[in-house]
Amino acid sequence: MAKRIEFTQHGGPEVLSVVDYSPNNPADNEIQIENHAIGINFIDTYVRGGLYPVAKLPSGLGTEAAGVVVKIGAHVTGFKPGDRVVYAQGPLGAYSEVHNVPESAVAHLPDGISFEQAAACSLKGMTVYYLLNQTYQVKRNEIFLFHAAAGGVGLIACQWAKALGAKMIGTVGSPEKASRAKQAGAWDVINYQTEDIAARVKEITNGEKVNVVYDSVGESTWLPSLDSLKRRGLMVSFGNASGPVTGVNLGILNQKGCLYVTRPSLGGYVTNREELDQASNALFDMILSGKLNVDVPKEQIFALKDAQIAHTTIESRKTQGSSLLVP
Ligand code: NDP
Repeated sequence: MAKRIEFTQHGGPEVLSVVDYSPNNPADNEIQIENHAIGINFIDTYVRGGLYPVAKLPSGLGTEAAGVVVKIGAHVTGFKPGDRVVYAQGPLGAYSEVHNVPESAVAHLPDGISFEQAAACSLKGMTVYYLLNQTYQVKRNEIFLFHAAAGGVGLIACQWAKALGAKMIGTVGSPEKASRAKQAGAWDVINYQTEDIAARVKEITNGEKVNVVYDSVGESTWLPSLDSLKRRGLMVSFGNASGPVTGVNLGILNQKGCLYVTRPSLGGYVTNREELDQASNALFDMILSGKLNVDVPKEQIFALKDAQIAHTTIESRKTQGSSLLVP
């Protein structure tokens, strides 16, 4: 028997419970992985709450973990028992001791990267990779705006922007988070609890504003994000931490300067082995070259059985950087 987190109805953190289950043998294309560290993503809260209606109840939760291969299906060719691996886009159920994942979603983990580091940054880091390099290619010395800069995705973005030589203005919700984002490489910071985002962006850029805004906060930052863009700038709306953006009248894009909007997801950028290898190798190179630190503070590493506490903590905006569950 193994343990995993399940939920039988959508709701707050209280719907999560620990259950015993016996994992099936892996299907022909699957790898059975003993998880050593499990990534917690804000997206997991959308799945738990039902905003992303992807769970067939009762359901497991989580899509990201790092660990060791214990068994392989008959058609698996690239992995063997004992291999160290990581996955970011597994089937729901990564909050578990053991999980079966299709070979197509699994990557080999280089020796110099720990299970904790890998689970802390695989989904979030590949997201930053596609956002800054593919959705819009941020250039050296270019100033851009990235919201929630002291969060899991955000602290990786600060460091990646610095490595690109770009000037990231990060928004944060407290003075402590402002210091953390700056320390990680943000060029400037705005505390959006106390400051007017668009006015500050205008001030920082001497009235020019920015070509691109990366917005994972959603509802509460939608309008100030549009107001921070130059004429024909690009709004990248990639999350809903404050609630989803709904009911948009497209005319607003014209009024605010013929703007572009995109709503990307990792699932639309990493769709096959080639794209997974490209994104994960870029991420591993950043860690191994010392440009990206993804170490998780002890107080943000939770026991698997404490998934409820972990979700309450991440939703209360108390965390900085990534958080993990450990079986
Ligand atoms: P974070 O660690 O960044 O946590 C979310 C942060 O959002 C909080 O720490 C908080 O920072 C900020 N926030 C602003 N308003 C609220 C609010 N009302 N309630 C809660 N938090 C708020 O999470 P992740 O790193 O896991 O994910 C960051 C974002 O990126 C999420 O929105 C997620 O959905 C999105 N994402 C999108 C992907 C994609 O491909 N589209 C892939 C991965 C993540 P502060 O206190 O500083 O405001």
